[in-house]
Amino acid sequence: MKCPSCGAIDDRVIDSRLGKDSTVIRRRRQCLSCKKRFTTYERIEEILPYVIKKDGRREAFDRTKIVEGMRRACQKRSVSVDKIEAVADSIEHELLEMPEKEISVTHIGERVMKALQQLDDVAYVRFASVYRSFRDIQEFMDELKELYDTRKAREQRRSEDESLKENEESQDPPRSRNVHDSCS
Ligand SMILES: [Zn+2]
Repeated sequence: MKCPSCGAIDDRVIDSRLGKDSTVIRRRRQCLSCKKRFTTYERIEEILPYVIKKDGRREAFDRTKIVEGMRRACQKRSVSVDKIEAVADSIEHELLEMPEKEISVTHIGERVMKALQQLDDVAYVRFASVYRSFRDIQEFMDELKELYDTRKAREQRRSEDESLKENEESQDPPRSRNVHDSCS
């Protein structure tokens, strides 16, 4: 491995260590010429589809862009770095399993938005406003309203479920009525 200090290619490995998730090996190396130390990372080569940008250009998939985008959106919100990393991981895994050789950046953005929507409303709206670059305030308000409605519907459904459960628990099963209709 070419030494980053002097350019010599002979070195020796002084330490090898498996990374936290066991998918990467970190090696400390020492240059035999200048004795400087440097680190290399070894991981399995994975074939990810190319990302097609909005202007049509292709670029290699870059996981750090997803993480960075999410981190910006999650600033001062209670979303842990672990959760952000987990989202990036799951998107990366999905892409690895796709048969397509190319994927639109829009697809990835939508996927991130979906994940953020589950994690944090504010982060979601922040990300969406940057990502979709809302043309005007109306578009932004529509998005907010949609978010609010979904949330409200979800809460309503939850409370209905709960009251249903309570009813089931408190009410005795009907005895004489509808005996003929039921199968029992
Ligand atoms: Zn060197």
